[in-house]
Amino acid sequence: MEADIEKTRAYYSSRGPESLCNCGYCQNYCARVKTAYPEVARYLDSLGVDIEKPFETMPLELDENGYLEYCGCQYVAFGSCAEDFTHRIGDVTFGRSDCHPNTKMDEEHFVLDFYPIRLPFEEPESEGIEL
Ligand SMILES: [Zn+2]
Repeated sequence: MEADIEKTRAYYSSRGPESLCNCGYCQNYCARVKTAYPEVARYLDSLGVDIEKPFETMPLELDENGYLEYCGCQYVAFGSCAEDFTHRIGDVTFGRSDCHPNTKMDEEHFVLDFYPIRLPFEEPESEGIEL
């Protein structure tokens, strides 16, 4: 991977809360992921990526213990990345995604993706999250 870390970092620091998806799943993810996966957050930070500003998250069903599993969490990064890139931290596997919404960006970039992420999910009523 040849990530342009400085450009990526600048991109994330310029993104305000209004640029983030405001669905309940993404909000739940942003609020909890850093505490639940500190090593993943550190790795992303080393690439200039802010874990609290995902490009897209893909939640599965809520399980009976109140946990929600995300089968894909995607982040935009500048630079280039081999198609077969893979990295592992604990149970979490990272790769380059070729299946994601249009990033609407012209400069050389790629979408990093990792899974699975498992987080407690509070019902919207108790936290005022809008689904
Ligand atoms: Zn969302």
